[in-house]
Amino acid sequence: MISITAILLLVSFQQLYFFFAEIQKTTEKISHGDLTTPIVKENKQKKSFFYEEDIILQNLETMRLSLLESQNQTSRFIMGISHDIRTPISIIKGYTEALSDGIISSPKEIKNALDIISKKTEQLEGITESIIDFTRMDSKELREQFNPINLYDLLFYFAKSTILTLSLFKRNFIYEISIPENTKTKANKNLVLRALDNLFSNAVRYSHDNDTIKLLAFMDSEGIKIKIEDTGIGIEKKELDFIFNLFYRGTNTANENGLGVGLGVGLAVVHNITELHGWKISCESEKNKGSCFTITIPLENCSSI
Ligand code: ADP
Repeated sequence: MISITAILLLVSFQQLYFFFAEIQKTTEKISHGDLTTPIVKENKQKKSFFYEEDIILQNLETMRLSLLESQNQTSRFIMGISHDIRTPISIIKGYTEALSDGIISSPKEIKNALDIISKKTEQLEGITESIIDFTRMDSKELREQFNPINLYDLLFYFAKSTILTLSLFKRNFIYEISIPENTKTKANKNLVLRALDNLFSNAVRYSHDNDTIKLLAFMDSEGIKIKIEDTGIGIEKKELDFIFNLFYRGTNTANENGLGVGLGVGLAVVHNITELHGWKISCESEKNKGSCFTITIPLENCSSI
């Protein structure tokens, strides 16, 4: 009996030893920064002695894939930013050199050059804000800044503060906030305002004079719905799956109206903000008819004050 137990123990230890040796081999590459080699069993034919072996290998493979995705996302982010920063910088450089060398000398030309420099500086400022927004998104700190907020008051405040901007851009604005005045949810107020801002500035950029932008809030069986609708240029159906991806810019950007700069970051930020809160964001759109973005706040995330 004792010798049978000893043999079984020996076999088990031997299997464990082989298993850990295999894990050590497969994870060594990752520790050296190589995320491209899949984590698979060396000898696929050989049945695992312990059921857990396969699970651990699968979990390691899932971890490798998510590390790889985050590495790719960072590279895409840096590549996109470097590309977008280079153009305004070279324009600013060109005009400042022309001003200091006296190539631009008449008052009219000087004013024109300064206007361009100022516009490009604003563009760089916008890019910097987007970078800060996006990089802050991952931070645990943001979740800690969640406080109970009155959703009705927040939406009402946002609508009021938007009226003037939208009339300056010659857009009609309709808002209907039909949720109870005492609706409360836990959220980071500044981030929610940032998400609404991004959706509104897109609605302005992808629409024309006299188009209508709506802010609607109501409750249905799924939860509280916040809708930002526009009667603008719309999005191709086949592109709807990609618009929330970082740096994705739709084919409709060719028709952008020049009101601001697009980097393909705005909706990725909105998506991250809604995810962070446990909310959902979706979009319905039709080319040349307009777009409707819906934020859904599950009922369990809301309460009455
Ligand atoms: P961008 O800086 O290009 O606007 P976003 O991440 O904000 O980046 O949006 C991604 C893409 O989604 C845009 O390039 C555009 O094609 C499309 N899009 C976003 N909002 C709208 C809208 N309201 N109307 C039409 N297209 C939109």
